[in-house]
Amino acid sequence: MGQARTTALIVAAGQGVRAGAATPKQFALLGGQPVIAHSYHALASHPAIDRVLVVIGEGQQQFLTAALGAVDCVTGGATRRESVRNGLNALALDAPAKILVHDAARPLLSHAVIDRLLAALEHHHAAMPVLPVADTLITAEGDTAGDVVPRETLCRVQTPQAFDFATLYDAHRLWPATREATDDAQMVRAMGTDVHLVRGDLMLEKITTAPDFHTAELRLGAAMQVRSAQGFDVHRFEAGKELWLGGILIPHDKGLSGHSDADVVLHAITDAVLGTIGAGDIGLHFPPSDPKWRGAASAQFLQHAAGLVAARGGVIDFVDVTLMCEAPKIGPHREAVRAKIAEILALSTDAVSVKATTTERLGFTGRGEGMAAQAIATVRVPMRPLP
Ligand code: MG
Repeated sequence: MGQARTTALIVAAGQGVRAGAATPKQFALLGGQPVIAHSYHALASHPAIDRVLVVIGEGQQQFLTAALGAVDCVTGGATRRESVRNGLNALALDAPAKILVHDAARPLLSHAVIDRLLAALEHHHAAMPVLPVADTLITAEGDTAGDVVPRETLCRVQTPQAFDFATLYDAHRLWPATREATDDAQMVRAMGTDVHLVRGDLMLEKITTAPDFHTAELRLGAAMQVRSAQGFDVHRFEAGKELWLGGILIPHDKGLSGHSDADVVLHAITDAVLGTIGAGDIGLHFPPSDPKWRGAASAQFLQHAAGLVAARGGVIDFVDVTLMCEAPKIGPHREAVRAKIAEILALSTDAVSVKATTTERLGFTGRGEGMAAQAIATVRVPMRPLP
């Protein structure tokens, strides 16, 4: 079998849905990405992790595919313990050396936490991230305060939990089938193996209730940077051509010439979107010298640019475009163009603005020789590289 030395298991088998939604929570959107995508990318992009396996619930394949495409997965069981065991059984064929077991409900996983866990595994059989308890803890006697519980010896446990694979595999094998376990570390401790503690991360808080989504959005928002970038494009008018603007065919006595469909609006927006992540310009990604793009619908250029932003963990917040021409009149088509751009970018029309101006009969646009478009895109991208 394969040579996977360090593997990660993401437990994503929960059936709970967000209030009013049909999608299980681990597949709901957080910061514009499915919850599971955050920790999946964090683990998959870590240089020391060779394989990531996802454990999903019965009937959740469609959600996983929509969230991550075709990724390695197995179906879980009725409890978390059974789900982890199914994952371990699948991974055992690879005989990995180490394993990290993570809950998809803790999406905001950083490489720093993974680094701490893997460093701990150099000297320990098991390790897990914990946070200190900041609040005063007491017992409650009904609605009356009881004694203070010393918090110095208490901590809050997070995931991923990291183990020598054989240690965790044995722990699951030896655990009584009729008994439940809150986590894997508990099962390893039950065998008499010490679990080493490393510093956790506030970003890793678990998403359980609807308000947790809001808190996680705020945490994520604090870790995102707002960027705006512009794009500019010009095409020449040519008799007998179709006029495509913003993905809409506009009736006019001439159209724009160019290698693709010459959609000056979508080209300007594509360059603006590419600019937000410093990804060069449309000519770099779709060279006019490539016959593949002859007559191509420009929506695919914009979708490609938006995909690059998403791959970087970013979210497009707003797009604004100004079209410069004497004719045709853009006003009657403005809402159709706006709706089409929103559709291409999977934004609400509210997040797209379309404007037009003449140039007072001055210059090439004023003489009706061509059209120009200027766009600006505003995005949020993670400040740190995508974990
Ligand atoms: Mg162009």
